[in-house]
Order: sequence, then structure tokens, then C-alpha cells
Amino acid sequence: MNKKIILSHYRNASEKDWKNWRWQFQNRVTSIKELAGMTGRLMPRPENLHRVLSSYPMAITPYFLSLIETNNENNPLALQCIPDEKEVSVSSHCSDDPLNEDCSMPVPKMIQRYPDRVLAIVTQTCATYCRHCNRKRFWKKKETSTLKSRLGKMVQYVADSPGIREVILSGGDPLTYDDDQMEMILSSFAAIPHLEVLRVGSRMPAVLPMRITKELCRILKRYRPLWFNTQFNHPSEITPDAERACNMLQEAGIPVSNQSVLLKGVNDNEDIMRRLLYRLQKISVRPYYLFHCEPVKGCGHLRTEMVAGLKMMEKLRKNCSGLAMPQYVADLPGRSGKVPILALSGSLENDLRKHQDEAVNYMTDNIEVEILLFEDRPIGISLPNFVELIVTEAEPWAKGDTVSGATKPVKVQTGATILVPTFVSEGEKIRIDTRTGEYLTRVKG
Ligand code: SF4
Repeated sequence: MNKKIILSHYRNASEKDWKNWRWQFQNRVTSIKELAGMTGRLMPRPENLHRVLSSYPMAITPYFLSLIETNNENNPLALQCIPDEKEVSVSSHCSDDPLNEDCSMPVPKMIQRYPDRVLAIVTQTCATYCRHCNRKRFWKKKETSTLKSRLGKMVQYVADSPGIREVILSGGDPLTYDDDQMEMILSSFAAIPHLEVLRVGSRMPAVLPMRITKELCRILKRYRPLWFNTQFNHPSEITPDAERACNMLQEAGIPVSNQSVLLKGVNDNEDIMRRLLYRLQKISVRPYYLFHCEPVKGCGHLRTEMVAGLKMMEKLRKNCSGLAMPQYVADLPGRSGKVPILALSGSLENDLRKHQDEAVNYMTDNIEVEILLFEDRPIGISLPNFVELIVTEAEPWAKGDTVSGATKPVKVQTGATILVPTFVSEGEKIRIDTRTGEYLTRVKG
């Protein structure tokens, strides 16, 4: 869409306003009426979209809207931000939270799926809501607490967990906060002595590049080592504005990587993907991951077959510079995390089998688990983070076993072997963290 046409919809808006991220953010297109008025042919059945918006709201920055060609209903950028009635059609393969993130929060809005890092959902707001978002379940939920109180609990948890070395600020998009709030978030985590690295996940370079200002870069620079992950999904998102935003971050000494999502009709095509990867390489942004779109409710229409993704990657590998090749991965619940998709009969299936084998170590008759289905096949088991199991075989505790931190292997009722402190005896019940396989404590009764 032409920038001038969009600007004409805002009374008295100027070129200066256009370059101001706050103006862009405040003037996001959020209603069907507004969108229909601006885009015309992009809205064939606007009346059907009201139902979609009641489940999954819409927000599009005027900047991102200006990148969409209005003469193409299936424009790859439109597919990413304009609601589609298919979002509310029933899909048996999809769930709100396929990664079981809501069960992996030691404190509200902080996800821990690995022992050494946590992801902090510092906000639920985004500049532009991507229709393929794996956290779209949060969009309608209202924040019930202040940033300060949420942040306080997260910071306390990290401070009390010496094993955590990295915090990923995510959301939502953390850069929807203004500079003062960003500084408060960054400085609160950076003050924790054992924390080594901060990471910011933001789609601003693609959807609102004006947000990357000199002042923001100065703030981010103060908290290095800080890594920046963004998400470009199509080559036409890499505009001069986007390039300028990435360059400013890089000049501040912040490495910028890209995590694309493989999306039907957007980038599931060898030529388009190659153009995207080469353009990223040209602006010195590392193509890091290509995510297989997760089975999230409301995103089914944008998912591709994994086999199609594999074939595309196979072709790219043959004639695309290795430096520009991302790793094609599927994110799985629990400790398996990101599994490289190399070949359906190879690494993926082995990793999935390993994930299921590990799960068996903690499964008792009455335990509730979630089975993740992928294209009708069970590919993952999601366990509760903590289970309580009875020790069935243990060497007796001997006098002299008093060395602090000494451990011994014991067998639990599932047949698994767990390392426990030497004072644990046969017949006792113990609590185990299923994400790490570690003993936590004895349980009475
Ligand atoms: S910017 Fe990220 S969190 Fe926000 S809607 Fe897009 S994918 Fe989801």
C-alpha cells in the first residue's frame, strides 16, 4: 500500500510522524472498518472477520501495512498480519499451548524449559500481531498486575537460581515498552551477579523499525553481552528502514540473528527462501533458525507439511551459501527443546524416541500427561515439571556417609535410576524435577 494513501487516513499526520515509533504504535490499525477503509480489495469478506477478532485481536503498524501490495489477496505480508476466518475453524491437531509453556512457569510469566536459561514474558503486547504467533493465546488476556510486581518475582527467581546464566526477554514484544521501562527491566536482571547473558527477542526491525533509535541502542549497549533475535519471514520485509535498524544495533556491538517461521504461502518456496536468506546475509543478520510452524490453535492454515520443508531445505543446501543456511527445527515440549529436522527417518525420529524414553522414567499409573500429536503421529509426551516417586532399591546409609553433597544411585518405582543424597533410604518418597532428572527433596507421607 502506498504510504501517502495510509497517511491520508490520519488527519494532519506528517512525514515526521511516520518516522516516529510512538506515532506508528499509537496509530496501529486494530479495527476491521479501519482496515477495510485503507485496503479495499484485501478484505473480501470483512463481516466474517469480526468473529476472528473476538478470539484473536488485530494490530498492524501503518509502516507494515505500507509494505503490502493491495492487488494481491494472498500477499505474503498480508497473510502474516491480516486476520483470516480459518483461524477460528476447528483443527483437531492444534492446541492453545502445544509446548506446554503454561506448565513450565516457576513464577508467573517466566518459562523455564532448560536448567541454564529462562524466558521472561515481560509483556503480552506487540506492535503487529502475527497471525502465526505461537503465543496468540495471550492476546486477549488482560494484565492483572503491574510490570514492577511481575518483574520483581521474575528477578527474585533468577537471583535464587544460581544455575541460570541467561535471560531471554520476550513476549509479546519487549520493545513495545518505552526506553525507561526497558532500562528498568535490563538493569534489574543485569544486577544479578551470576547472570552472564541477556537476550532480547523482538520483531520490531521487521514491523516497526523506527523503534530502533539511537537512545535505545545506547541503553542496550550498556547491558552487553546482549544478543538480539528478530523475525523476518519474507525478503520484502527487508526494507531500507529495516536494514538501518539492524545496522544501528550492530554498530552498538549487538549481534543480530534471525528466526524465521516456515509459513504456507509466505516462504515455503525455495526461491523466496533463498532471497530471504541472502538478503539477511547481506545486512549481516545471521539466519539462525527456521522454525517449523507449531500446531497452535488459530495457525493451522499457515502450517506446511514437514516433508515439504525438508525438501525445500534439501534443495537450498545444494546451492545456497552455508553461511546463509539456518537450522530447520521443530520445537517440542519439555526438555527436548528445539530438535533439528534433518530427515524424517533420522535425527528427528531418534530425538523424539529419546524424548519418549526419558518420559517413561517418570510415568506412574495415575500420572496425567499430554501427548503431542504431529500430523496424526504421537511425537512428544509432556509431563508435569515435578513428580513424586518411591525409592524401591537403595544401598543402606552407612556411618561415615557424611560428606556434604555426596550422592548415590537409587532405583525408583518406574525402574529409573536417580542420583540422590546418601541419606535417602529404600521405601522413601522423593520429588524429582522431570526437566532435569534431578532429585529435589524427600516427601513425607
Ligand atoms: S511479534 Fe512475536 S510475540 Fe508478537 S505476535 Fe509476532 S510472533 Fe507473536
